[in-house]
Amino acid sequence: CFCELKGLIDDCSCSVESIDSFNNVQVYPILNSLLNRDFFRYWKVDLTKSCPFWPDDSRCAMQYCSVEQCEVPPGIKEPRVAPVREVEEEDCTGEEHLGYLNTTLSAESKAGFEKWAEHDSTQDSGFCEPEDEHAPSSTYVDLLTNPERYTGYQGVSAHRVWHSIYQENCFSANSDSSGSPFSHITDGSAMCLEKRTFYRAVSGLHASINVHLSARYLLQDAKIGFGENVPAIWGHNIQEFQSRFDPAKTGGEGPTRLKNLYFLYLIEIRALAKAGSDLELMEFYTGEPEQDRDVRLAVRRLVKVARSFRHFDESSYFSNGQSSLKEEFRLHFRNITRIMDCVGCDKCKLWGKLQVTGLGTALKILFSGDFEDDSMSNTYDPQLERELKERKPPSQPALKLTRFEVVALINAIGRLSRSIYELEQFRKLIAR
Ligand code: FAD
Repeated sequence: CFCELKGLIDDCSCSVESIDSFNNVQVYPILNSLLNRDFFRYWKVDLTKSCPFWPDDSRCAMQYCSVEQCEVPPGIKEPRVAPVREVEEEDCTGEEHLGYLNTTLSAESKAGFEKWAEHDSTQDSGFCEPEDEHAPSSTYVDLLTNPERYTGYQGVSAHRVWHSIYQENCFSANSDSSGSPFSHITDGSAMCLEKRTFYRAVSGLHASINVHLSARYLLQDAKIGFGENVPAIWGHNIQEFQSRFDPAKTGGEGPTRLKNLYFLYLIEIRALAKAGSDLELMEFYTGEPEQDRDVRLAVRRLVKVARSFRHFDESSYFSNGQSSLKEEFRLHFRNITRIMDCVGCDKCKLWGKLQVTGLGTALKILFSGDFEDDSMSNTYDPQLERELKERKPPSQPALKLTRFEVVALINAIGRLSRSIYELEQFRKLIAR
């Protein structure tokens, strides 16, 4: 199968096979359970910001993506009971509808989030455009009830976003001589390491999104009304996967794009290890002591396995005082975070923002100089867990990562981890 990738990942000393086994056996099971926990399940984000680069062109144009399909509950007319936007979406009956976002939250969760919010501060020097979590239009989104999957978002709007990311914000050594909007560089051989990495990270993210939409494809639409109430069926669509990654259908590019996904995974795993000392100090407060403790332990396990698998070496980047290149790199990435506001499908925007923020957080960890290299301390110490339990929450200035960033980072790694796991499923399905 074309997706039976083999060999080393460029710019890393690591084979695809070893990543498969590391991820599928060690990382994926931990993340699979961790991401079901409340701390990582809810993310506060503003999905209403308008696109800063071009007029919004598709917001309600897509089938199933409009909130107009929801039945508005009586509470919507009573803003003192709940903000309009929340009630509007909370009571949508069309949960199966593509692109629909459910922002329902329990009162306890809200109380917990207010405490988290105290820990979070907007930051201006990072790789991401700062998000104002206190903006009235920011709402908590339940990531579990709004999974990343096929939405039908495509065509001019989706292409404009990808095009803008590649052509205007990735460093490109080739001019677009073919006339194709996507004739961006693919082997990166003409670029320096930093620019190549930037392109490959974006391409890896793009590949991951497209693996997910192929693995959770709409196989059968929901049937609601006329005496029928059959939920939609989601699952693997081999043809969709092949059309995106088979070399015969992608001008030979498919496997390279999948390898970029593995490369991105190595970057984020390395960032996780590097931020390990900070993550181990976090309280992961949700107001549920048992759950919080489980989360702390699972995060520690995750950090430990990440430390055991160091294959991305950030120390070879921006050497010889390339501070202007680093700044350019940061500004380009920051622009990509702003382009996410141009995505014309709420659900794609949510997951796009989340994953871009996660990657931006990884880049901040790797390149801002604010994080210690702690790769040597890879032993688990039960005594430390006892001390952590007794310790007060860290004071705000000591926190280098906000809750917004941590949730995004771990979920972003979760997406890549799931993509690698899904590749294994596609291999099996195609072999059958
Ligand atoms: P596209 O994926 O749109 O790609 C455009 C062109 O880019 C291709 O023709 C090819 O030349 C090139 N290309 C493709 N993949 C890569 C790669 N990995 N590396 C480098 N170049 C590449 N759709 C959903 O169904 N669910 C989602 O959750 C979702 N999330 C999205 C999030 C964002 C931020 C964006 C911009 C789009 C999202 N989409 C989502 C849409 C999806 O990514 C595709 O754009 C859409 O399915 C149309 O696919 P396409 O075949 O036209 O090619």
